[in-house]
Amino acid sequence: MTVPTDAPSYSRPTDHDPEVELLVAALPKISLHCHLIGSVAATTVVDLARKHGVGLEGRTADDLYDHDSYEDLGEFLRVLDLVGSVVRDVDDFHRITYESLTDGGAAHGVLHREIHLSPPGHPGVAYPTILDGVVAGMRDAQADTGITSGLVVGLCRERSGADALSLVEEVVRHRRDEVWGVGLDYEEVKGPPGLFVEAFAAAGRAGLRRTAHSESGPPAHVLTLLDELGCDRVDHGYHVVDDPEITARCVEERVPFTCTPVSSDIGRYSGSGDGSHRRIAEMVEAGLLVTIDSDDPPMFGTDPTHDHRVLAHALGWRREELAQLTLNGVEASWLDASGRADLRARVEARLALTRPTDDTHAEEQP
Ligand SMILES: [Zn+2]
Repeated sequence: MTVPTDAPSYSRPTDHDPEVELLVAALPKISLHCHLIGSVAATTVVDLARKHGVGLEGRTADDLYDHDSYEDLGEFLRVLDLVGSVVRDVDDFHRITYESLTDGGAAHGVLHREIHLSPPGHPGVAYPTILDGVVAGMRDAQADTGITSGLVVGLCRERSGADALSLVEEVVRHRRDEVWGVGLDYEEVKGPPGLFVEAFAAAGRAGLRRTAHSESGPPAHVLTLLDELGCDRVDHGYHVVDDPEITARCVEERVPFTCTPVSSDIGRYSGSGDGSHRRIAEMVEAGLLVTIDSDDPPMFGTDPTHDHRVLAHALGWRREELAQLTLNGVEASWLDASGRADLRARVEARLALTRPTDDTHAEEQP
């Protein structure tokens, strides 16, 4: 993949604007597209590698993540594998989940997160072991900060449809209330969505919600997700706006798209040429239900605050536009009706604090 030399670097701080800084810090946020394996702080990776006596190919906490210079998706996924290899026992999964939800979530105003979990990214670790640690981390993070969360188990599209089906069967066998649905991730060109119809059908029969990544794929893949995989959400989906008819259907059906401005720009997987923010603006203008998140925050040198900061600078969006993205997140969440009503109330209480008053801006957090 080619990386344009004049491409803006979204992983570094952009212009400092005090109004934007106050707004993005105080804004309540909903996180529907954040991978657990991609949200481990580099210092934690180094700690866990030491604990398990695993080498990191000579990398240190300072250079583990390349931030804005991954050669291609393949290089990014190799680093992801390295991270996955050091997270091994219940305590490890508890730690990375807790840190992701607190330091990487609640500290940035995230009130609710649906965590993408990738069991195939931790070879040799039993799925129930992963769940025990992750669920304990979710409960402790909620007790300490109030953040609510659920789980989306990611099927690996680089493996076969049969592999994906057997993971769904395992998810069903070890059913936990915290597991709300399944997703489809890893390298898109190696596993078009049509290969996973059977696995997604099994998930649907078990009452699991469904989403899938469609970042570089054509608009037709969105139809495959909706009609053949039974998805009610799309991760990324930037190319949908290339097809007015499919876009109109998604607007009509209020299909949510979980967009990730910084990671998609740095990875340039969206293929949009001049940045995913332009695509995101087109999607919003078309009337699509767009939400914003960070994908793999420390791996791309970002966090939930920074993704909103970048949109504010790139698109001139301020309180009204950014607040709408958060409200979209409430609508797109997989909480049940009462959970969603509760989340909406929490979001509105926080948004009220960012509302300009007569002659002052009351942006302070409670
Ligand atoms: Zn993703």
